[in-house]
Amino acid sequence: MITNEPYGAEPWSLTESSLNLDMIAQSESVFALSNGHIGLRGNLDEGEPNGLPGTYLNSVYEDRPLPYAEAGYGFPDTGQTVINITNGKIIRLLVDDEPFDIRYGTVREHTRTLDLRAGTLTRNVVWTSPAGHTVKVSSVRLVSLTQRAIAAFSYTVTPVDEPLRLVLMSELVANEDIPTAAGDPRAAAALAKPLVSEDHMAVDGGKPRAFLVHTTRSSGLRIAAAMHHDIHGPERMSVQSESFPDLGRLMIAAEVPAGEELRIVKYVGYGWSAERSRPALVDQVSGALAAAQLTGWDGLLAEQRAYLDDFWEGADVEVHGDVEIQQAVRFGLFHILQAGARAEHRPIPAKGLTGTGYDGHTFWDTEAFVLPVLTYTKPEAAADALSWRSNTLPIARDHARELGLAGAAYAWRTIHGEECSGYWPAGTAAFHINADIAEAVVKYCSATQDAEFEREVALPILVETARLWRSLGQHDGDGKFRIEGVTGPDEYSAVKDNNVFTNLMAQANLTAAADLATKLSDEARKLDVSTEEAAAWRDAAADMYIPYDERLGVHPQHDGFTNYARWDFEVTSPEHYPLLLHYPYFQLYRKQVVKQADLVLAMQMRGDAFTPEQKLRNFDYYEALTVRDSSLSACTQAVMAAEVGHLDLAYDYLAEAAFMDLQDREHNTRDGLHIASLAGAWTALVSGFGGMRTGPDGLSFVPRLPPGLARLTFRMRYRGRILMVNVRHHDASYRLLAGDPLPITHHGNPVTVGPDMITHDIPPIKSRPAPAQPSGRAPQPRKTIGDSGS
Ligand code: BGC
Repeated sequence: MITNEPYGAEPWSLTESSLNLDMIAQSESVFALSNGHIGLRGNLDEGEPNGLPGTYLNSVYEDRPLPYAEAGYGFPDTGQTVINITNGKIIRLLVDDEPFDIRYGTVREHTRTLDLRAGTLTRNVVWTSPAGHTVKVSSVRLVSLTQRAIAAFSYTVTPVDEPLRLVLMSELVANEDIPTAAGDPRAAAALAKPLVSEDHMAVDGGKPRAFLVHTTRSSGLRIAAAMHHDIHGPERMSVQSESFPDLGRLMIAAEVPAGEELRIVKYVGYGWSAERSRPALVDQVSGALAAAQLTGWDGLLAEQRAYLDDFWEGADVEVHGDVEIQQAVRFGLFHILQAGARAEHRPIPAKGLTGTGYDGHTFWDTEAFVLPVLTYTKPEAAADALSWRSNTLPIARDHARELGLAGAAYAWRTIHGEECSGYWPAGTAAFHINADIAEAVVKYCSATQDAEFEREVALPILVETARLWRSLGQHDGDGKFRIEGVTGPDEYSAVKDNNVFTNLMAQANLTAAADLATKLSDEARKLDVSTEEAAAWRDAAADMYIPYDERLGVHPQHDGFTNYARWDFEVTSPEHYPLLLHYPYFQLYRKQVVKQADLVLAMQMRGDAFTPEQKLRNFDYYEALTVRDSSLSACTQAVMAAEVGHLDLAYDYLAEAAFMDLQDREHNTRDGLHIASLAGAWTALVSGFGGMRTGPDGLSFVPRLPPGLARLTFRMRYRGRILMVNVRHHDASYRLLAGDPLPITHHGNPVTVGPDMITHDIPPIKSRPAPAQPSGRAPQPRKTIGDSGS
């Protein structure tokens, strides 16, 4: 069995206890540090060997042409690709003339630890050079969660048993060589040398420093990176700085006695802008560095810890009985926080800022999977990501206009806002993204009661997306409102009529827009919403057509789906998954085969639209068709498996979502983490085994543990409170850690939670045989009780 073993199984950290070069690219993603603004892959300090060097700034991208063999009206001709910006991580070392490079000499010890409470990546190496000189290298790095423009590095080298001449070279490097990954549409387009130098400078003196300024060739973004240093070492040292268009370098040479240290603290500041002048940007990063140096290394560590303590106070999940899931869920939460913490009106990409997969694009992943977690754990970050959607409304309006539609049509994949999908059946046609954004807005409003957000962000988004649905759909002769020719979440069905997920989500979108426009009537009028328009939204919602197959007693994913031939799973060999890389879409589109939860996701997000019996039947029906060729499936299947009572199966799916990256289950963690799947681990626990759902009436819980877990405790933020829920096999307890008493429901019964713990029984559940998956596609079974917590 594959385990998390390369990263240990500690509850609050991940430790790699030796460097495995075959896994270097995966570990770079796993050990990435970010604050949502800056992202650093976990590359080694000395820069090489590497899998993929990576330093990113949120929303810094380059344009690239999107050529078509057969172009069509409205196809985007330009794409956007995340670029590797100036690398400030590099600190090279010479040990008596020999470069410290773990491919040579003898590595006696090499450990790296990602500490989820400290927010640091630590590395300890003991290395003997080919000439036989041994040094100990210890480095610690952080990307500050409190000082947005700052990354900092502490690097210490100690000669072990003899005095040594050491040279440290601390660098800023632009336009690094990037390996190309050909053949996988999920990887990124590599752009060679995307940065054009504008300015550079290096200064010696008490606090040696350097900066580089570049612009991107086509997207016209200006990027400044600067470094300052504190140096600690023997009295006699030579220190020199130099700069070139693509290189800033500080060199420190010293004779260091055995057992003594040569140490630098390197502060790196980043800034970018489409508008600001070169001097303004240089001042911005220099100022950020001055502030960071004032805080100092210890101060930055303390701030980081305090920020994370506050986060965990309202977000932690304790999993008793499975140490690996325990580690994985905290790892996931940590990366979700990193992806969104300081994004500040910028998007959260599908890979966060951990790699270049999917070109650094943002998809519906953010609103449908990531924001539901941030809304209940770090609501400010959810608000920021949605504010980016509201800021890009003008672009989405233009897109709708181009498509001949009203309102706003958000891009399926983008960095700056414009549609970057060159394949419209699984791009522009996936209109559901608009309702997913609307749903995230509604969830955020309900969870925070943030009136300003409701007015400034929620209303314009809901209005424009409702307009889109009203113009995309139509009332048929029977008065039913139908939405034809769209693609739902399952990308193995495209351009279909009346996708149930899309129609139900559009229905909720239309209703929410009408409700909010009625509530904020003055503001709505400013957006030209008339009473008639709001009434038309309500009509469309009330008349929404939801196909149902009476013969089978299940919902077809879209009109006619259940009449298609089933995919022949028996003859499909395991190496032919993911199917999209081995079969033409033409074949996938006309068969019953499901890439990722679609109708099952509709049952999670619009649970109110299905009876319990329909949920049972639908779940079993789609289990037999779903191949999980997307990482955005297992978590949804976990939630719905738990709801319909397949608790063991839910546990298996939880594990798949949680271990997506720690075990590299899709063999592409090298390109960046699957942020939505990591979020899905939280959702599988909290909404799956905690049975947490939210609605206009507040929070409800239908908790139920799988046999493999002993206990589950989670905290969440909700309407100014911190709620703690503790689930055991026979009962669940609720307690508020902060805020006023809160009414909730437990297994359908209303209860009020206050500061004192209340405990309620969990009614027994009738067990039913679990459904089968397509041949060879069952999730890996997981049956663990690893500790004796109760
Ligand atoms: C999935 C999409 C998802 C995208 C980015 C695709 O494989 O089918 O639903 O948005 O990956 O994660």
